[in-house]
This record gives sequence, C-alpha cells and structure tokens, in this order.
Amino acid sequence: MARKDYYKILGVPRNATQEEIKKAYRKLAMEYHPDRHPPEKRKWAEEKFKEISEAYEVLSDPEKRRQYDMYGQSPYDTTGFSWSDFSRVEDIFDIFDNLGFFGDFLRDIFGNAWGTTTGRQRTGYRTGSRRTSASQRGEDITVTLELTLEEIARGTRKEVRLRRYEICDECGGKGSKDGGWKTCPTCHGTGYIQHVSRHGFMTFATQKVCPTCGGRGYVIENPCPVCHGTGRVMKDVTLSIEVPAGVKHGHTLQIQGAGHVGQLGGPRGDLYIKIVEKKHPVYERKGNDLYTRVEIPLTTAILGGKVELKDLRGGTFTVKIPEGTQPGTTFRVPGRGILGGDVYVKVDVRIPRKLPKEAQKLVKKLKEMGL
Ligand SMILES: [Zn+2]
Ligand SMILES: [Zn+2]
Repeated sequence: MARKDYYKILGVPRNATQEEIKKAYRKLAMEYHPDRHPPEKRKWAEEKFKEISEAYEVLSDPEKRRQYDMYGQSPYDTTGFSWSDFSRVEDIFDIFDNLGFFGDFLRDIFGNAWGTTTGRQRTGYRTGSRRTSASQRGEDITVTLELTLEEIARGTRKEVRLRRYEICDECGGKGSKDGGWKTCPTCHGTGYIQHVSRHGFMTFATQKVCPTCGGRGYVIENPCPVCHGTGRVMKDVTLSIEVPAGVKHGHTLQIQGAGHVGQLGGPRGDLYIKIVEKKHPVYERKGNDLYTRVEIPLTTAILGGKVELKDLRGGTFTVKIPEGTQPGTTFRVPGRGILGGDVYVKVDVRIPRKLPKEAQKLVKKLKEMGL
C-alpha cells in the first residue's frame, strides 16, 4: 500500500505543533461533513472525512507520529483505518457538538464507551478487538496517610491497612469451579461484535467489545461458588509502604501494581497514597524550611547567650543570641530543615512580671543611668 502523506492530507507543515494539527483537522472535518455536500458528492466527502481522521489519529499521537516520521510507518498501512481505532473522540465531539449535528451518528460510532466510562476503560474498549487485558485490569485504590513532620524529615516505612481484591484461593483466579470454559455464544470467540450504523448516506462498521464475555471470547461454564466467577475476593491486607523523605502535604505517591487485582487474574491497578501532614507542636513548615518561635530571658537578650533546640531528626542544635538582641529578631540556622532546608527561629523576650526587691533596686539603678 502506498504511503499516505498525512501532513499533506491535513495541509500542515512537517513541524506543525499539536495545536496546529488539531486546528487543521477541525477545519477540514467541518469542510467534509457530508451534509454540506450534494448527494452525488457525499460518498466522496465521507471518504475524505475518514482520510483526515486517519491522518489526525496518527499525527495527534506523539508516539504514532514519531514512528511515522522516522520509519514512514502508519499503523493503518496494512490493517486499514477503522473507526474503532479513533481515539480522539473528544475532538470530534468538540467539533460537531457545537454545530448541533452529527451527535447521534457519533454516539452510534463510539457507542456507550463515550461519556459513561473512564479514560482507562476506553482504552480497553478500543483495544478490545485485539484482546489485550486492559479492560480486565484491576481498579486503582486511593488511601490517605498521615505523617508527622519527623517522619517526613527522615523518610519512613509505614504500615497501611486496606481492603483489596485478591486472587480467589478457591479457583486460583480462574473463576471456574472445574476450570471449564466454553466459547462465548454472543461473539463466537472473537471477543468483539460488529456494529453497523447509518447516518444518512454514511455507513460505518465498528467493532465493540462483546458485552457477554468482556472481550475474552469465552465464558465460564461452572462459576466458582466463592468468587462467583470473578476470580477475586475482597480481603483485608496490610502493606508496608516506603515513604521518601521530604514528601509534602497533598502529594500523592503512586505505587504501581498495588491496587485491586483484576477479574480472572487480570493485572493489578495502582495504589495512590495521599499524604496528609500532621500539625507539629513546634515547627511550621514552608517548603523545606521550618519556622518556630522561642522565648529568651530579658538578660539573655541584653547580655547575649544561646538557645538549644531539637531538630526533626532527633538531634539538637544551638542558636547563638548576640548581645543586645531585639524582640522579634529572626535567626536563620542553615541545613536543619527538611532535606537540607533551613530553620528560622524568631525570638521573643520574656519580661519578668514581678521582680524580687534586690532586682528592683538594680533595675531602678539602670533607670537612673538613663537605660
Ligand atoms: Zn473463585
Ligand atoms: Zn463474547
């Protein structure tokens, strides 16, 4: 098959940006809409529409575009482009929903996969005909994890308890009592069903994942009584999670393959751990720096001295107070914060509420000296 020049088809330069490609596609898609052409030209418009969509499908995907640029290969050179390959459904909707036509026709093409399922499941939908396991992947899990500033400063290992789908021990994840399977009666083992839709003069044949077997091509004959044929059961598990030093409040750690196991032994989803930072009694965190206040005696402020503080890693450090330090002065201690951040110590001066007689005399003396 002769190589198609997708850049030429969309009328964009070879170095076009994604935005330019999208714009060009929008313009052409509207131009070739069959309703805008007399009946004798509709077939032609439909072909054109399909052609620009194929070009757009390749050029709008950085990886497909790279392959195409480097090797001149299009994934559709041998297989031919089908609407079920089209992943930029949003863009088409974007274009035509605004114009108020095409909606039903598009919904026919892309079926319920649009609008009712998540992005990941849509991946399963698109690749269903190739029977990848994407649609069987287990769900992700999100948990929150409370950490003290000390734990954040050092990095820590935490036990996280959660309820998670695990492989059913009874059937080993096969979902069947005796391991028996039979070919799916709906799709006859292909895993997908052909769906033909018409819109005016346009006919589109699309493939959809078989609703009976979910794209596997076979169904279980005698479902396992424990997991009811799903191959998995809910269990309480405790995971030991390594938390790196320096994580921030609101950060999410992703642990791949620690989510629910998929149905019938499908791969696990991911685990997302949302970090919640507990309030610290001494330090307030800003980025990797820490802020605190200390109170020093009046005499320390006047004569100078030092203050000892605990850091977050179990050590102590000293802040030198110079002679004549004013209330509200802030001292920076480098490297004692989180991951080498600094500590800022603001000094409050404690004024004695009641002085012993002896001290009163001394202060009066100071007053006489004009201090
Ligand atoms: Zn089972
Ligand atoms: Zn089936």
